[in-house]
Amino acid sequence: MSQIKNNIEEIKRKIDIAAKKSGRKYEDITLIAVTKTVDVPRIKEALSSGICHIGENKVQEIMRKYEHIDTNIHWHLIGHLQTNKVKYIIDKVDLIHSVDSERLAYKINEQAAKKGKIMDILLQVNVAKEKTKFGLFMEEVEPLIDKVKNLENIRVKGLMTIAPYVENPEENRTHFRNLKQLSVDISKRNIDNISMEILSMGMTNDYEVAIEEGATMVRIGTGIFGERNYN
Ligand SMILES: *Cc1c(COP(=O)(O)O)cnc(C)c1O
Repeated sequence: MSQIKNNIEEIKRKIDIAAKKSGRKYEDITLIAVTKTVDVPRIKEALSSGICHIGENKVQEIMRKYEHIDTNIHWHLIGHLQTNKVKYIIDKVDLIHSVDSERLAYKINEQAAKKGKIMDILLQVNVAKEKTKFGLFMEEVEPLIDKVKNLENIRVKGLMTIAPYVENPEENRTHFRNLKQLSVDISKRNIDNISMEILSMGMTNDYEVAIEEGATMVRIGTGIFGERNYN
């Protein structure tokens, strides 16, 4: 068995265990293979091992790889998105995880309207208020929802976070729990067009803890493909 296939099998097994710990099942969790810096042949290896969701953080990389990947694969934009690049990916990706401003939400709405589609988005939250990270602070999420809830060509489907890099994933448990609580609080308001069905949290180092705390999507790169080579 190839290393990539091996890694995916192992991760699926751990997802299953973590899902059960949180009273759910494997099928409740979506595994996104993060393919940034990964070339097309290795991506295809992952696809042939049962992956059907891939995540990229750069618009250019999606553009470069898009035509080489089967049309039934779901693309996720997980990195910071500049408003002037929205038009390039609006008809390619299924979910934008990284919306953190009114300006970006409006731009996505405008471009989606042009294509006659409704774009699913997540709001990115900077749970630990790290200076180096994008995302809304927790207290900024509901005000932004109130500003974008009437936009007709976007649908807010939930929240996303990139937790701090920590040695011990337990250190992120409180952050994940807080984000889950925020999503519960928002869904209790029953706002039209706003759902909190997706919680995108957990990466190679902390996905099991994230799932235990309620993640419905995990984004895993290194755990599947090994260390990234940025050259
Ligand atoms: C790179 C990246 C990941 C995957 O990180 P790993 O630690 O390699 O699993 C997940 N989410 C985002 C937003 C990323 O940029």
